[in-house]
Amino acid sequence: MCRDSIEQNISECTGSPFSIKQKISLSGGSINAAFRLIGQDGRSYFVKRNEKQGLAMFQAEAAGLSELAGAHAIRVPEVICSAQDADSSWLVTEYIQFGRGRAGSSSLLGEQMACLHRSTSDAFGWFRDNTIGSTPQMNRQFESWISFYRRHRLGFQLDLATANGFSGSLQDKGGRLMADLDCFFTAYTPVPSLLHGDLWGGNYSFDEQGNPVLFDPAVYYGDREADIAMTELFGGFSTGFYAAYHDAWPLDTGYAQRKNLYNLYHILNHANLFGGGYAAQAESVMDHLLAEIT
Ligand code: ADP
Repeated sequence: MCRDSIEQNISECTGSPFSIKQKISLSGGSINAAFRLIGQDGRSYFVKRNEKQGLAMFQAEAAGLSELAGAHAIRVPEVICSAQDADSSWLVTEYIQFGRGRAGSSSLLGEQMACLHRSTSDAFGWFRDNTIGSTPQMNRQFESWISFYRRHRLGFQLDLATANGFSGSLQDKGGRLMADLDCFFTAYTPVPSLLHGDLWGGNYSFDEQGNPVLFDPAVYYGDREADIAMTELFGGFSTGFYAAYHDAWPLDTGYAQRKNLYNLYHILNHANLFGGGYAAQAESVMDHLLAEIT
């Protein structure tokens, strides 16, 4: 592995020489090789590594972690450095020993997510693009959430689906949905909240004190409902989480309808990444949404 380059990079960025004593591979990631590096002096770092071309992805992730940290709402790993050498690219962050959580940890996660969402911006989007899974995610800034969501979320994935050979009825329904997007927002005006952006159960944990930790984000400013919707897509969040989030900042009644609109983005992304039944699932969600507005 680019051992010398990573040692040198960590040494330079921390201002203190780092020499690897042990490398422990970590499971759970879906895109990158992940491991814990333990130094001769006992320091530990979390490292994600990929092909050389992965540097922009890691730089965007580092910027996302810093943006989340800046909200002072919820713990995220501190960014140490990211770089590349002739063969690989990597991201180094603080290593956090995860624990099982304690009574109240899930509620704290809900409370802290609401606090994160209270961190807002002037526009939807973000100052830089990033990735969702391994798919590019465009974040050009827009004043209108509906325009942003139409163009850079649903529209982008639908174009990708065309390139991947998903045409016909999926595109017809997608086009109709995009044209009628305003119907979902007749009595609701979202604010640009700081979002984790890829909030499934595999992207949060608790530290040894039971404090929630977020990692692997796909940050942008958007409707907070999009983050909460994704927690429901694959499960992994407890009733305590939802109760605490609602206590801290209740969701609009139209959320029940819009959550399908927001999860459609991730389902289309899965269709584009993995194919299989995800395209059929996307179409069924579109049918459901179109039935609600006609
Ligand atoms: P990928 O980008 O490949 O999806 P993740 O960012 O999800 O990788 O990280 C892989 C796994 O490493 C996670 O499932 C988590 O268990 C663990 N992990 C992530 N960040 C840290 C960290 N800062 N400290 C310790 N373990 C971590």
